Amino acid sequence: MSEDPTIFEQIAAGDIPARIVHETETIVAFLDANPLAPGHTLVIPRDAYTKLGDLPDDVATELWATVQSLTPTIETAVDADATTIGVNNGSAAGQEVPHVHIHIIPRFDDDGGGPIHATAG
Ligand code: IMP
Repeated sequence: MSEDPTIFEQIAAGDIPARIVHETETIVAFLDANPLAPGHTLVIPRDAYTKLGDLPDDVATELWATVQSLTPTIETAVDADATTIGVNNGSAAGQEVPHVHIHIIPRFDDDGGGPIHATAG
């Protein structure tokens, strides 16, 4: 039984608009619609997987490599001082969209500091 595509699957397919900052055959990165900071970006696998443990190794590798390479680019773009990188991995952890996504959240010396514990929008 197939389920309805999530909003992120629809973004990856180009069926609904998003502010895409990077994409390959495997990975899509786009700006969060409700950013916790300027430049807040989500990095997702193009194919639909719900949790990190569902990812094939090659997809997980490219997903993390994309986060690693995009992070300094985003910091420079918004003149951030640091970055919070987070995953809500499952609904009990606050995952609202059941399609793996890694939050890249720029941080600033004057933003109050401290960790962002809940990245749910
Ligand atoms: P979660 O709580 O970790 O699942 O985060 C979901 C994130 O997706 C939230 O930060 C939302 O602001 C973001 N979001 C939901 N719908 C859209 C959309 O259509 N475009 C971009 N970001 C979205």
